[in-house]
Amino acid sequence: MDYKKPIPALDNWNRPFWAAAREGALKMQGCKSCGHLFYPPGPVCPCCFSDVLEWRTLSGRGTVESWVVFHQAYYKGFSDELPYNVAMVRLEEGAYLFTNLVGIPNDKIRRGLPVEVIFEKATEEITIPKFRPAEPAEA
Ligand code: ZN
Repeated sequence: MDYKKPIPALDNWNRPFWAAAREGALKMQGCKSCGHLFYPPGPVCPCCFSDVLEWRTLSGRGTVESWVVFHQAYYKGFSDELPYNVAMVRLEEGAYLFTNLVGIPNDKIRRGLPVEVIFEKATEEITIPKFRPAEPAEA
């Protein structure tokens, strides 16, 4: 596959996140001592430093907390997509994730917009979680 953007280097800490994404699930590390949910993954909880951690499957729903729109390609692989957004999504479970919003023009993005995860396959190994405006709840 000819994917031109930077892709993450897998290590023992982040591998479960990317394995889950490949299967269409959003997972994050959670602390079994204090309950904190966090990303990026690591050996200890950034809140209480406990190493008693577990991987939790998340709903994939959240809201836009903040975003920026890039008008300059810092990596050549992004030049065809200018201007593109990078957003911080506040997940329903409380953690934040940096991502891209798809399915919405950049000038329609707003804080508090309900979004839901989708998964875009980049390479055989890497599938990237992105977010789109959430479907309105069934009446
Ligand atoms: Zn903790």
